[in-house]
Amino acid sequence: MHCGTFLIIRSCFLYKIELDSTYTMKNKKGIPLSNILKTLQDLAPLELAEGWDNTGLLIGPTKPRPITSILLTLDLTMAVLEEALREKTDMIIAYHPPIFEPIKALTRNDPKGRLVLQAIQANLAVYSPHTALDTVDGGLTDWLCEGVGNGTHHPIYSIEKQGIGTKGPGRVLTLDTPLLLTTIRKKLKKHLGIKFLRAALSSPHKKTNTRFKKVALCPGAGSSVLQDVQADLYVTGEMRHHDVLTALESGISVLLCEHAQSERGYLPIFKRKLEQRLGHEVRTKLATSDFGPLQIM
Ligand SMILES: [Zn+2]
Repeated sequence: MHCGTFLIIRSCFLYKIELDSTYTMKNKKGIPLSNILKTLQDLAPLELAEGWDNTGLLIGPTKPRPITSILLTLDLTMAVLEEALREKTDMIIAYHPPIFEPIKALTRNDPKGRLVLQAIQANLAVYSPHTALDTVDGGLTDWLCEGVGNGTHHPIYSIEKQGIGTKGPGRVLTLDTPLLLTTIRKKLKKHLGIKFLRAALSSPHKKTNTRFKKVALCPGAGSSVLQDVQADLYVTGEMRHHDVLTALESGISVLLCEHAQSERGYLPIFKRKLEQRLGHEVRTKLATSDFGPLQIM
């Protein structure tokens, strides 16, 4: 290791690259990275992330730098990284962790290596809140619930960590007024800003006047969280074919909004929350080159 370089290594694999050192700013615009990290921790405490996740500061800047601008994105693709470089961004907050699978080598021979090396070379800070942002009260999953209707909800299960109470991923939403599928569909499309979603109706729900009362939700790929949850309807981004069939066999209908579309609409809300905390010292921007890779043709 070179001086000033601190590698956090878990089980011999590289998950986080931290090259920042304690830094105090003098007469410079912006906010120290440590203050931004505190704000992010307030908005989505990392203790709320699932055990399998890889959240927090994943790439630290090579040299101490004040943070004057943050680019928000769902995914850190090369296009988003290039946008960050064009915009002279200091920090990227990528909802999905850009480093997730263990990295054994960092070279330019593969896309992930090129992305990480270029971010390091550009002296960027890269942070991911992922499932911490899903789980927190008022976070992404609660926002998804709002898209279905008014009611009471609770997490699908509790994360077993000390000091975080009964918080956990997914929500079981009991609607105040049972709703027709057409109503839920219209509300969800409007809420998520999407034109299409995919529906699978279980036999008991094929009558058009069926009303749904209990809805289980999970943003992104919801199969593992929704599995075995008793509800009338599952709402998530994507599910495998056989998981949809299993739900139908259990009398549960399914609405799939597509992975990124079930998450991206929360970014403007997260941006406003950040702006309220950070004030005018830091410019926040939603990446324009961040979009779902799949299209209906
Ligand atoms: Zn996701």
